[in-house]
Amino acid sequence: MKSANRRVFMMQVALGGSALTAAAAASAQAMVSEKDAQAVSLGYAADTTKVDAKKFPKHAAAQKCSNCQLYTGAANSKSGPCSIFPGKQVAANGWCSAYVKKA
Ligand code: SF4
Repeated sequence: MKSANRRVFMMQVALGGSALTAAAAASAQAMVSEKDAQAVSLGYAADTTKVDAKKFPKHAAAQKCSNCQLYTGAANSKSGPCSIFPGKQVAANGWCSAYVKKA
């Protein structure tokens, strides 16, 4: 009987671990919010056409995350990782003041 309980316990631990891993993966893919403190400080906008031109006069309409050096999302994806926002995704059509044109 005790070994059966132990087996059940071990299965619960294994399942719990899987759930935690899945939760971590899901949160790793969370989108950056324009309201996140770092996003606000960098003027991040999920839509490059909505960037405040007065605040960021160097911004150009053609600049967006998908053609930024720091964006590592797959081509044609709607979002992807950016090294400025570790563990989160930025919109492919987004922009922030740390933009660096892809070489
Ligand atoms: S650094 Fe580049 S990829 Fe990252 S949010 Fe800013 S513009 Fe987008």
